[in-house]
Amino acid sequence: MKVIIIGASLSGLFTAYLLAKEGVEVEVYDKTDILGWPPRTLIVTRELENVLDFFPEESIINEVWYIELFSRSKSARLELSSPDLVIERERLVKSLARLAEDAGTEVKLLHQFEGFAKFGKKVAVHFRNLETNEEVQTSTDVLVGADGGLSAVSGGDSRNGHRLTALLQAKVFLHEQRDSSTCQVWFDSNHTKYFYWLIPESEQTAIVGLIADDACQTGVCLTRFLQNRHLEPLEFQSAMVPMHRFGFAGEVLSNDRNIFVVGDAAAQVKVTTVGGVVTGLHGAKALAHAILNGRNYTKALWELKIELNLHLLIRQVLNRFSQVDYDELLGLIKGEFKDILEKWNRDELTQSFLRLIWTEPRLIKLGAKALLKSFLQ
Ligand SMILES: Cc1cc2nc3c(=O)[nH]c(=O)nc-3n(C[C@H](O)[C@H](O)[C@H](O)COP(=O)(O)OP(=O)(O)OC[C@H]3O[C@@H](n4cnc5c(N)ncnc54)[C@H](O)[C@@H]3O)c2cc1C
Repeated sequence: MKVIIIGASLSGLFTAYLLAKEGVEVEVYDKTDILGWPPRTLIVTRELENVLDFFPEESIINEVWYIELFSRSKSARLELSSPDLVIERERLVKSLARLAEDAGTEVKLLHQFEGFAKFGKKVAVHFRNLETNEEVQTSTDVLVGADGGLSAVSGGDSRNGHRLTALLQAKVFLHEQRDSSTCQVWFDSNHTKYFYWLIPESEQTAIVGLIADDACQTGVCLTRFLQNRHLEPLEFQSAMVPMHRFGFAGEVLSNDRNIFVVGDAAAQVKVTTVGGVVTGLHGAKALAHAILNGRNYTKALWELKIELNLHLLIRQVLNRFSQVDYDELLGLIKGEFKDILEKWNRDELTQSFLRLIWTEPRLIKLGAKALLKSFLQ
């Protein structure tokens, strides 16, 4: 069996590695000329190690043990039971590429996917070689789109109906030396339904960013935020990230079950934090398992879908939160509720969701109030 994967980034290369090590013939194509480009600092939970089945030591630039949360007039500090990992995407992409290539995958850069056509059980795939500008055509048994939020495999701009949200972050130099094990998050619903963050890379540099619904808004808000804190940007990192939605079943693109999408291309993103690394790797694992065992990919994704849907449920409520609601929420973070937030990470919502509500029933009242207010407005 031959598998062609479009996109040599995290979800594409991990799928390639899992398939190639079981003897599948795999080719991965990417339009860029440098793996992992452009640079991006990411924060992920320790679930990264579980999903990869190894600890990606060389990609990790820092560990975060504390998260400080701020609303207009309240704050809370969480001490995590296992640290979040700050990673450099390029390093993780390169190490996954090495693993995939060692297992027999062929990685071809400067090849832009331009379309596919089905003939019988096979798929003809068209590329443009960006070095020579020549058209290239090849065929495969299985085509996988791991080509990000604007996936051409899943239909380009239609993105399978997913909404995109803008993520912008700046690398900043820290004038005062600060504790590199503490990440900070600010909720300010006047500027964004999401939040601002500061993720330390070291004692000298950090990543400061925000998520908002449109790219212009992120630019204006981030510039103001940095100016207010006398932080000078060294470089910016940005892109549009797709948002998971309820009832999505578009990860299988053909009745013959031989054209799939994974990672951001399938919007496998936690919409509370707009984090897609761990969830995209879980998607890759489910896809590789389905291809290798002739199983249904959609069914193999059910655990991930539950997790993503719980994040979406919480996001629907948070989208309606005012500054007063965030003050109230942060005021609740103590005792057993705080313990649960510290013990279970944000990739374990399936395990912690009911515990959180059971321990702090005022969450339901807070959520219901925010929903009701938004319906009455
Ligand atoms: C600034 C920023 C910060 C983020 N921070 C975090 C974070 O802290 N934690 C977290 O979990 N997530 C974070 N995310 C989200 C996370 O980066 C993505 O969810 C994840 O990288 C998606 O990986 P992927 O492999 O699915 O897709 P991508 O990394 O988008 O890879 C898609 C690949 O496909 C290639 N490609 C696209 N079109 C074509 C084509 N036509 N032909 C050939 N190749 C093509 C691209 O060149 C690219 O290499 C962040 C996103 C941004 C933008």
